[in-house]
Amino acid sequence: MNLNILENYPLSELTTFNIGGPARFYVKTEDSGSVYESVEFARRQGVPFYVLGGGSNLLVSDRGYDGLIIHIANTESDTSTDGETVYKTCGAGVVWDRFVSECVSENLFGVECLSGIPGTVGGSPVQNIGAYGQSVEGLIDEVIAVDTADGNIVRFSNAQCKFSYRKSLFNSEAFGRYIITSVRFALERAGKPSVKYHDLETYFQKDADITLQDVRTAVLKIREHKGMLQLEGYRRFKCAGSFYKNPVISAGHFDEIMGVLDGAAQNRNWYWPQSNPGADSGADSEVKLSAAFLIDNCFGKGFRKGRVGLAPNHTLAIVNYDDATFTEVIDFAKLIEDTVYERYKVTLDREVQILQ
Ligand SMILES: Cc1cc2nc3c(=O)[nH]c(=O)nc-3n(C[C@H](O)[C@H](O)[C@H](O)COP(=O)(O)OP(=O)(O)OC[C@H]3O[C@@H](n4cnc5c(N)ncnc54)[C@H](O)[C@@H]3O)c2cc1C
Repeated sequence: MNLNILENYPLSELTTFNIGGPARFYVKTEDSGSVYESVEFARRQGVPFYVLGGGSNLLVSDRGYDGLIIHIANTESDTSTDGETVYKTCGAGVVWDRFVSECVSENLFGVECLSGIPGTVGGSPVQNIGAYGQSVEGLIDEVIAVDTADGNIVRFSNAQCKFSYRKSLFNSEAFGRYIITSVRFALERAGKPSVKYHDLETYFQKDADITLQDVRTAVLKIREHKGMLQLEGYRRFKCAGSFYKNPVISAGHFDEIMGVLDGAAQNRNWYWPQSNPGADSGADSEVKLSAAFLIDNCFGKGFRKGRVGLAPNHTLAIVNYDDATFTEVIDFAKLIEDTVYERYKVTLDREVQILQ
């Protein structure tokens, strides 16, 4: 197979942040067969390699990347049915929202709340994407990947992917080892559209007869209001969506934070006690906090410094407002992280991947 390797390839246009210098080598893999060949090319050149999907969760250094970018673009797909379950196997390069839109129009349940998330099918299991009460771990049957250690094809069951909140095998212990070439999803032909999340419950009237398409439309509208759509025809912020995960802290630590907040803040919807069934009796339980609430308390909504700032209606997104550099974004992020830590002793973990 002939790989079309390009040199000094600009990366900024391939990420939703629109930041970053060139890659020393770049290859687009339109079929899964050329994935391992690309890895072998990088090894022959003695350079590292990095996988790129839709670039929607990635911040690239201004210096670029001194290695090979393997841009996953294979879109071969297949559908089969077993009773009420429809299995869709999608190439990793399929645009995520195209897959969602197809499922909704075929009246398949389980993915409607994940409408409008940018990126590719291959990127979806990596950080276990989620929104509005659904996450991709709920519909993944199998992840098919190339093991970069030996070129073998590996099939991971849902359990083997080790999914948890914004986490999987692929962005933790096995980070960088497997290149996902396709994902097999299990969707249901019968069910009830998911309207669990506060924003969605508010959008719909109680007991309304809601279709999957209604949920998709509602999610797209809510996302549009937050500036969190990257679809054609919508206002686009140059960002990677939420820069931070919502932190989970001990109940004792939570009580300390509550102690320093005023009464009004105490009553708002910004924390969620976590069930901790495995804990021994007497063990500390945990509380998930809204990172946006903590940041807003420190900086106010829409805080900006120079060419970087928070999205006006989605605090968790750090935005490149005007050709900002990588360093400017990182300095801004450090300011946010240090200030939140100083005030609340809470460490904000980044959701975005940094490539430098
Ligand atoms: C406006 C906006 C809104 C967003 N909203 C949400 C949201 O609601 N919920 C949510 O969870 N996320 C959200 N995101 C984040 C992002 O869309 C997801 O993380 C998405 O799944 C990233 O996919 P990608 O193809 O763009 O991956 P990339 O950004 O290209 O890559 C991200 C990471 O995954 C790895 N990777 C990508 N493809 C593969 C592959 N085939 N095999 C192995 N590794 C791979 C890369 O190496 C990198 O480490 C949002 C982003 C934006 C810009």
